[in-house]
Amino acid sequence: MKMLVCQEESGYTVGKSKDEVKTNMNILECIKEYARTRPDMTAVSSGGHTLTYGQLERDSDRLAWYLDEVCGENKEPIAVYGHKKPEMLVAFLACVKSGRAYCPIDISVPQSRIGSILNMLDSNVVLASEELQVDVGDKKLIFPEKEIPKADKRELNPVSGEDVFYIIFTSGSTGEPKGVQITENGLSHFLDWSVSLGNKREDKDGKVFLNQAPFSFDLSVMDLYTCLASGGTLYCLDKRTQADYGALKSELEKSGVHIWVSTPSFAEVCLSEPSFDGQNLSDLEVFLFCGETLTNRTAKRLSERFPKAVIMNTYGPTESTVAVTEVEVTEELCQTVSPLPVGKAKPGTRIEIRDKEGNLCKDGERGEIVIIGDSVSLGYYRRKELSEKVFFLTNQDGIRGYHTGDKGYMEDGMLFYCGRMDLQIKLHGYRMEIEDIENNILKLDDIKHAVVTANEREGKVKSLTAHVVAKKRTEDERAYTKDLKERLGKFLPEYMIPKKFLFLDSIPMTANGKADRKALGRSGR
Ligand code: AMP
Repeated sequence: MKMLVCQEESGYTVGKSKDEVKTNMNILECIKEYARTRPDMTAVSSGGHTLTYGQLERDSDRLAWYLDEVCGENKEPIAVYGHKKPEMLVAFLACVKSGRAYCPIDISVPQSRIGSILNMLDSNVVLASEELQVDVGDKKLIFPEKEIPKADKRELNPVSGEDVFYIIFTSGSTGEPKGVQITENGLSHFLDWSVSLGNKREDKDGKVFLNQAPFSFDLSVMDLYTCLASGGTLYCLDKRTQADYGALKSELEKSGVHIWVSTPSFAEVCLSEPSFDGQNLSDLEVFLFCGETLTNRTAKRLSERFPKAVIMNTYGPTESTVAVTEVEVTEELCQTVSPLPVGKAKPGTRIEIRDKEGNLCKDGERGEIVIIGDSVSLGYYRRKELSEKVFFLTNQDGIRGYHTGDKGYMEDGMLFYCGRMDLQIKLHGYRMEIEDIENNILKLDDIKHAVVTANEREGKVKSLTAHVVAKKRTEDERAYTKDLKERLGKFLPEYMIPKKFLFLDSIPMTANGKADRKALGRSGR
């Protein structure tokens, strides 16, 4: 294997020259075609607001002309801030039509973290669909939801081939998020395959796709672009609806959803309601899961409640464009194999299991999961050193590869996932690095040491405990915990803030001088 090769001015890139990799799917062309042939069909529906394919195409063109005018020579990626608003799709498409990548930022991200992302991006504009309380410096703030500024029609040079289409920021162990760059080619390769997942039961277009994940998580790419590539309607569930089962139930029933895309955790929440079944959601054809372990128990309960629906388990990190493997979880598989496999590689992708020395493992032997294929990211935006540690080009054919840090093994081409090699976790479907949380707790002046442990049940992380050594002892630990959580909320999204805080005099150490996480884990349960 050879390491990464080229460093472009605009960020970190690895791989082939532009247009070298050919795919069938061009998402911008698909949308244009649907806008021409069925302009009045709803492309997206969110909180009662809708946009048709015709509006999406027209508004994104107009915004792209404007962006081209105000950005001029500046081709840097553009941040798009908001939560589930249909106009966010207009903003995404306008950026890529104008030849610039976009970077979605959800409202769950605290202002200080948004500030550090905006500082990294050198674009002179920010697109927002909600009030943004952060200092955007010289950047021009545009609210396409209120009004799309007028600009003359012009020739545009959209993102294509090996240009970056989007950048999604994920938790980074240093306490700063890292931006995964996905190319237009990478997305097209993914869509070539993902459209077929949505057609597992019936091959037709015009289906309703459920959007659960905010657009700043790559799981949303699975529903958003698979939907738009197949002429469907994206039905978004916002944060408020998801937190209230009464509202969620009525939204789900109203949606007429055909293709369910979510983390298994979200389906588990829905399963706790007896009315969540194939009678109430009679159009539901396919469950598409990704992002965390799908347990046999959850799959079994779903197939009992939805006997006509197909359940698909897929696996992959943001760094390889959402997902790279698939398996249909039939009743037989569910009864005979536990834990469930995560699937076989999608076309154009190779999965390898490598041992510590980098040698290929035999079938059944555990090692690191390595993903090789054109949907692998160019690397982390402006993080050359970090990228070089995990991304590479293959010697034989110069294809991009990524060391996932996931443990697993293969059996006859079927991949089994066995957890992480590091301290990255999934909590309620959210990816996070434990060190990211610890480093942010240490930003609080009154904390000397912090170690965070994950509390697991049935192989899944259920909550986090922070073990902290404070500079001064406190009488009222409850009030102090509340205060710490509040202050931490300035640096971390709510879902990353540990539920429990334990106050210690010192952190126990292992013989080689590291924090003894195992001992702490036992005390934190
Ligand atoms: P994200 O980048 O948020 O998609 O998270 C990627 C990580 O989620 C992977 O590296 C795995 O650790 C985990 N993951 C993704 N899909 C699955 C799956 N089907 N089963 C278990 N873990 C998964």
